[in-house]
Amino acid sequence: THFGFDTVAENLKASRVAAVFSSVASNYDTMNDLMSLGIHRLWKDHFVRSLNPGIRPTTSAQPQGQRILDIAGGTGDIAFRMLDHATNINRDTQTSVIVSDINPEMLGEGRKRFSTSPYQAAGRVSFMEANAEQLDQVESNSIDLYTVAFGIRNFTHKQKALEEAFRVLKPGGVFACLEFAPNLNNPVMNAVYKRWSFGAIPLIGQIVAADRDSYQYLVESIEKFPSQQEFAGMIRDAGFLLPGQRPEDEVVKAGWEDLTMGIAAIHKGVKP
Ligand code: SAM
Repeated sequence: THFGFDTVAENLKASRVAAVFSSVASNYDTMNDLMSLGIHRLWKDHFVRSLNPGIRPTTSAQPQGQRILDIAGGTGDIAFRMLDHATNINRDTQTSVIVSDINPEMLGEGRKRFSTSPYQAAGRVSFMEANAEQLDQVESNSIDLYTVAFGIRNFTHKQKALEEAFRVLKPGGVFACLEFAPNLNNPVMNAVYKRWSFGAIPLIGQIVAADRDSYQYLVESIEKFPSQQEFAGMIRDAGFLLPGQRPEDEVVKAGWEDLTMGIAAIHKGVKP
């Protein structure tokens, strides 16, 4: 506003998010398992499989591999899965991932996890501390696949982050997002789910991590995130084409795929 209230509010929000993730970094993976009853692992597996990262070599040529940018990559869950998939399923030993996060503590957990992996030794993973809303370190038109899992709902300016995703991707490059949705498809299940998330999650946070407030914030940020339809519109506004024109495509016509009754959703977009 004229008086700068928006800026004050936005700065407050960004510092709040930073504090939350600094506080949860060390027990983040355990808490994820507890809060989602382990289901986040299945969603992440499905997300990565649906992207089929890596390029299969042909008899005539060894391809260059893909350049993947995993935004809000945190502890490296998605990056690890993508490198495993490229290597084991597509026999691609070239594809590399840049794990990027705004929070040095979360990135530190990711670094630690990769330090003993063959991917680190082969130079197939690198780490970048950056705000997704301003990826100055990444050249325009340089990325084949941009992923963001359970990250974008924490961004202060989501549209700006989508525009940055569009800028850094090569033409033909894919944007892919895995995120919680604010409401389940079934109203009865939605009521049960809301009781669970608003009741149990802050309590588990308090008991396991001695940090009720951070987990309360995480639940509230899901509630405030746009619906699947609204978010698909934002992706389109950033310039992406939504995939899935054929009914048999995994991502439905509308441009997203609901997971587990719509608790989470996968959105994709292609840069024309
Ligand atoms: N992608 C990982 C996963 O699926 O397990 C981590 C998700 S974690 C819930 C959200 C991450 O978003 C945190 O590591 C946090 O630091 C990061 N984050 C929050 N705001 C960000 C921003 N503006 N730019 C980049 N990363 C951000």
